[in-house]
Amino acid sequence: MVAELKPTNPAIIGGGYAGMAAAVTLAAQGIPVTVFESARQLGGRARGVQHNDTQLDNGQHILLGCYRHTLQMIEQVGGNIEQDFLRLPLQLTLHERFELKAPHFPAPLHLLVALLSAKGLSFSERLQAARFMLAMRHIKFKLTHDISVLELLRTYRQSEDLIRIMWEPICISALNTPTHKASAQVLLNVLRDSLNGRFTDSEMLLPRLDFSALFPNRAAQYLAQHGGNVLTSCGVEAIIPQDNGVEIVTAQGAQQFSHVICAASPASSARLFRATPSLAPIAAQIDAISYQPIYTVYLQYPEHVTLSQAMLGFDRCFTQWLFDKGRIAGQHGLIAAVISAEGRHQELNHDQLALKVVQELQEQLGISDEPLWHQVIAEKRATFACEVNLSRPSNTTPLPNVLLAGDFTAGDYPATLEGAVISGIKAAKEIISSR
Ligand SMILES: Cc1cc2nc3c(=O)[nH]c(=O)nc-3n(C[C@H](O)[C@H](O)[C@H](O)COP(=O)(O)OP(=O)(O)OC[C@H]3O[C@@H](n4cnc5c(N)ncnc54)[C@H](O)[C@@H]3O)c2cc1C
Repeated sequence: MVAELKPTNPAIIGGGYAGMAAAVTLAAQGIPVTVFESARQLGGRARGVQHNDTQLDNGQHILLGCYRHTLQMIEQVGGNIEQDFLRLPLQLTLHERFELKAPHFPAPLHLLVALLSAKGLSFSERLQAARFMLAMRHIKFKLTHDISVLELLRTYRQSEDLIRIMWEPICISALNTPTHKASAQVLLNVLRDSLNGRFTDSEMLLPRLDFSALFPNRAAQYLAQHGGNVLTSCGVEAIIPQDNGVEIVTAQGAQQFSHVICAASPASSARLFRATPSLAPIAAQIDAISYQPIYTVYLQYPEHVTLSQAMLGFDRCFTQWLFDKGRIAGQHGLIAAVISAEGRHQELNHDQLALKVVQELQEQLGISDEPLWHQVIAEKRATFACEVNLSRPSNTTPLPNVLLAGDFTAGDYPATLEGAVISGIKAAKEIISSR
């Protein structure tokens, strides 16, 4: 039996959104933390990437107005939500095929009006969509047992067209998992908090600065001002739980800490846990998780090239969503094309995929300019596959001084920044409550 320890000097493994949220939560309580990050920069799966003179991200991310914990964290470390983001009312547009736009009405009227006036659906499909949302409200967005999103939609008589042009893009954007595999319960959790929430909860927030700058780098400054320490290029090789704390082993040697929050990627967390018998079952649980990719194709066009709106979707194309970085962040002519989840695009190499997207922009939008350069970023394990009845590990472990955080831990949300931040805060609170 390991004694519960006072949180004198916790260590955090991983400087992604979960790890940095945990660190800020502890530092705000006057607890000095040390963050170990194996990469040269902070941010993990939401990080800035430099391409020659252009600041990119490893992938275009969107936040929703209901991501309260993430938005509050950004503000806590000195961010300003109104300046840091382009805030858009809920609007889903598939080029020349579909448009859903929420008016400024009180909830849930804004959603019902949006659904009933959606363009590109027949009258009966609009009614089906509105009835579906009312039925989900009626059951408080809680299913008695989990099923796939596709099964749920078919049970509630959503037409195949309605599924393809509205529910599928929503499911893939939110869960990064195809509808036939995706957990209906997790999608309902997201719908409950976003579409079903207040008008501002369903707003989409597109960051004007890169994802390392938006939160993790500011969090590192906050930690420095609160007695904390962030070590980059310092990967943890082993966690050795001891009676009086935890030993953390890096290439620089071993250090002693009172607690550790492991907020590394799932694969890395499993590797670190596997060596300790009482943590090995958690490693096995993580090993059973599978992953889905996200590809982002950045195309730098001449500066005059612009889209009709900041975010534009497509039906029956390789390209799922386009983002006009000129409108979002003043990076004129820079277009980000996002392709989420598994699919036929994975059969193409990066140059072929970029060419395909360029062709689609020509055919769909009449953009005849050639891009000056392209950069494809393939995150093959972008998120866990948010499948039906997925078993996710808890923040606590059998060892009271070893905690786990990350978007993949048990929670309401799919792999999102909000899920990661909530998990980091929860793990930190476990330590705070042991004081
Ligand atoms: C392309 C892409 C697009 C996305 N789009 C969205 C979106 O639009 N909206 C949204 O909400 N979410 C989106 N996500 C998901 C979101 O980015 C993740 O859910 C979130 O960043 C996960 O944060 P995390 O801290 O849990 O994990 P990670 O970001 O994976 O952080 C783990 C950190 O641990 C470090 N690490 C690993 N092993 C070690 C070790 N041994 N020692 C020290 N450090 C270690 C890693 O380098 C990393 O920095 C997207 C993800 C990707 C990849």
